[in-house]
Amino acid sequence: MEFSSFNLHPVIAESISQAGYVTPTPIQQQAIPIVMEGRDVMGLAQTGTGKTAAFALPILHRLMNGQRGQLRALVIAPTRELAEQIHESFVTLGKGSRLKSVTVYGGVNVNPQIQALKNGVDIVVACPGRLLDHMGQGTVDLSHLEVLVLDEADQMFDMGFLPDIRKILAKIPAKRQTLLFSATMPPDINKLAQEILKDPATVKVGNTAPPVTVSHALYPVEQHLKTPLLLELLKHTDTESVLIFTRTKHRAKRLGEQLEKAGYKAASLQGNLSQNRRQAALDGFRDGTFQILVATDIAARGIDVSLISHVVNYDIPDTPEAYVHRIGRTGRAAKSGDAFTMVCQDDTIMVRTIEKKLGSPLERRTVPGFDYSVAAPRKDEEFARPPREPRPQRKPTDPKKGNALSINPFKADHPGAKPAGRPQQGRPGNAGGAPKATFNSSRRGK
Ligand code: AMP
Repeated sequence: MEFSSFNLHPVIAESISQAGYVTPTPIQQQAIPIVMEGRDVMGLAQTGTGKTAAFALPILHRLMNGQRGQLRALVIAPTRELAEQIHESFVTLGKGSRLKSVTVYGGVNVNPQIQALKNGVDIVVACPGRLLDHMGQGTVDLSHLEVLVLDEADQMFDMGFLPDIRKILAKIPAKRQTLLFSATMPPDINKLAQEILKDPATVKVGNTAPPVTVSHALYPVEQHLKTPLLLELLKHTDTESVLIFTRTKHRAKRLGEQLEKAGYKAASLQGNLSQNRRQAALDGFRDGTFQILVATDIAARGIDVSLISHVVNYDIPDTPEAYVHRIGRTGRAAKSGDAFTMVCQDDTIMVRTIEKKLGSPLERRTVPGFDYSVAAPRKDEEFARPPREPRPQRKPTDPKKGNALSINPFKADHPGAKPAGRPQQGRPGNAGGAPKATFNSSRRGK
């Protein structure tokens, strides 16, 4: 199958080929014709499957006709990073269309967003909290909305955004096309989908299967030897860009520092970073300034780095789904990748659960020449102990009790979060956090 079979608007078809896409991915093959028909869609797909283009392309196609400068498509996403990534996809795939997209999320100065919305936009990609602020202030006009996308609905639910989503839904035109994408379908998301989708078509791809191009291996090791083993692995592996997962923010930060000390260009992504530094870390990872990014699951959500060559689970994830999510970041779009998972004695049960989910045992590897016999250091030494921070909860938490905040690095967007004090700046080179607006602007590098 080729993209030409969709009969997309010629401007969009041209940008697809400029983006280098040749064959539609399975989710695109299924979803694009249905979305073009105007039907509601429930999409079960994880990051890495091409789901963004699966909704962005038919939306752009639709917006090519009709009034310009009116907000007709709204995408709601759980994190700033994902919002930026979706916006970038609209920019790339809408090149030459002169349609305008802006991102709307908290933690950055609101004024450039207000100005951009006032100037007229066609697409808004938003996180729920800041969007509600704009709705409350009357700085966004949703009366012309035709298409709503809820992306990574399960993640929004996990982060406690469901009440915000419901508030938004209550205030937007009921006559619209709604697309809901989620990697998993917990009962609450299913319930929401049944409430808000009209006669939806369900499209589903590889919900739990990891990309076939990824080769997995387990590296059994004692807790205190994880960092030396990681350094050894890095030394002997031909890595382009490595995404390393730790269980806690603290470990992400410390490991990032240790890798830097060892001479690697490494950054860590954890909750206590300012938006400026977070964006600098992400941009640096994307453009190759940083070869290694260390992150927790939540902080890494939404990262799209199609060139990731290796994913390392410094700490094993909490669930088999999280394992598939993590390693889904490598081996994307038919690129091959490696996933290394360090496992300790305590991880035996989780290893078994993951292997059961994958349907096959994972290969155990040892690194030749590595001294596995080094004794554990004193008890209080860094990383001698297993991680202790509370794990993220699957159930939505009461924001007023504050426990949701402890796992959410995206404070300003999180329900119950205190309003950001001083307005923060946006990404470097984008003064004042101004959302990027025009598709075919020559100011855009890509
Ligand atoms: P997503 O699942 O939307 O996060 O997309 C994963 C990655 O695949 C992104 O880097 C996209 O640019 C890329 N991608 C999406 N669709 C295609 C396609 N048809 N051909 C090649 N790459 C694609």
